[in-house]
Amino acid sequence: YRTALGKLKNAPTITKDGTPISLQANIEFPEDMLAVRRVGGEGVGLYRTEFLYMNRPTPPSEEEHFDAYLRVIRAAKGTPVTIRTLDLGADKQVRYQDLSTATNPALGLRAIRLCLRDLKMFKIQLRAITRVSAFGQVRMMIPMVSGIQELLQVRNLVSEVQNELARKSIKFDQAMPIGAMVEVPAVAACTDLYAPHSDFFSIGTNDLIQYTLAIDRVDDSVNYLYDPLHPAVLRLIKMSIDAASRHEKPISMCGEMASDSRYVRLLLGLGLRSFSVNPEALLEVKQIIINSDMTGLARSAGKLMRLTAHVDILELLEHINR
Ligand code: PEP
Ligand code: MG
Repeated sequence: YRTALGKLKNAPTITKDGTPISLQANIEFPEDMLAVRRVGGEGVGLYRTEFLYMNRPTPPSEEEHFDAYLRVIRAAKGTPVTIRTLDLGADKQVRYQDLSTATNPALGLRAIRLCLRDLKMFKIQLRAITRVSAFGQVRMMIPMVSGIQELLQVRNLVSEVQNELARKSIKFDQAMPIGAMVEVPAVAACTDLYAPHSDFFSIGTNDLIQYTLAIDRVDDSVNYLYDPLHPAVLRLIKMSIDAASRHEKPISMCGEMASDSRYVRLLLGLGLRSFSVNPEALLEVKQIIINSDMTGLARSAGKLMRLTAHVDILELLEHINR
């Protein structure tokens, strides 16, 4: 089985009926690129940079950012690298910022909200990402966007950084795409309104499910309610994909749901054409895509979103996966 999957490494990711699918990888450390290369990933759809900040007494310097990003870009060999700006708070804590006292940390000062509060720290990362954009196909991704204003603010900050670099004749990619994660239901419901300000989107199902169903993703006492197949979750995913497609903005999914072999065909049926998955899951996801026929998948997915009883949902999902 391992070797059968291994043979898929260089196979194009295309459905039985000829629909091309983009299949990228999620990483947390530059060393993860070894695993990505091993499975033939076509780029990085999510580079979680918070791990640069964790388990150390002070935040990383611009050079530390730059060196880590450059390692990833060199290993990516011209394929896209989507660097996500710092996503701290809630389930991701560091020693030098006490964010644990909030009553509802997942709804509080985290991710982009935190970065926009500490512009000095944020600009260090923005400068490193902008500088490194000269060396490959770099995209900048913003976590936990809820307001359109946040996207506009990030764009202004990146312009400021670009102007500063230009004055010093430091090279960068003027056209570096800046995109929002779809992980707050507001963004999924109104993707059309965010589209003019976002060059691409990526659906973060881990948080999207948490916020849609009001289920803390790290609270074991309610995890039985954490359900990717909930019709509200599926409908939001579909709304977001449809709106992004109408506005001709690329949309991908980098949440765990995309890495789960049970959901790949359902997601294809919901219109998803771009996946970013854990390197360990990549070849299995590819195998499913290659063996999938799109005919009827959209109809089955539409039907599944109208079911309420969990047994019926699981039965239809099984039928979709057969
Ligand atoms: C997500 O929320 O789905 C996601 C990809 O981000 P993280 O798991 O890092 O919060
Ligand atoms: Mg998230």
